[in-house]
Amino acid sequence: MTDKQPEALRLAFILEHHIPSIDCLELTATELRRQHEVIQTLTNALEAFENRMGEIGGCYDGGCLIKEPKGMVTNGGCKCWHEPIKMQRLSRAAKQLRKTM
Ligand SMILES: [Zn+2]
Repeated sequence: MTDKQPEALRLAFILEHHIPSIDCLELTATELRRQHEVIQTLTNALEAFENRMGEIGGCYDGGCLIKEPKGMVTNGGCKCWHEPIKMQRLSRAAKQLRKTM
């Protein structure tokens, strides 16, 4: 962990408390583009993860660990963790998500 202030927060402070230079404005634009790319990558990874959870399929319990069911639900607890293949697929999807982060 570093004590260095994140670039976005440093730039935000300058914009709030000083008249920013052209260099500061350019750095801010660059930082905003970088952050947009990171957010887009994470959004795409999360969407892929959610799609994968849909493919794996959950149970009908309201607290399903895999996928929240739509419509009528049971409340006896998710039974998905009893299915090794399903858990293996979940682990692979989580590993893929972690690689993206
Ligand atoms: Zn379940």
